[in-house]
Amino acid sequence: MSLLDAKNVSIECPKCKRKHNPTIGSLKESPIINCACGNAINVDVRYLVREMTKVEKKVGRIRKDIERTVE
Ligand SMILES: [Zn+2]
Repeated sequence: MSLLDAKNVSIECPKCKRKHNPTIGSLKESPIINCACGNAINVDVRYLVREMTKVEKKVGRIRKDIERTVE
């Protein structure tokens, strides 16, 4: 269980543009979102995790820069 599991992601249905906000953890368990319009969205969880990890790393770097400025 990683920290990312509790994070919500925004997935848009390509068919009806409805927004879904599943957590990474729930997508790892089942990567398919059944939309109300009847479309089944297959989510690439590994891609999402990779992208989110990139963002986390960037945020960490910015935080460090701010700490350095404050000192
Ligand atoms: Zn839909």
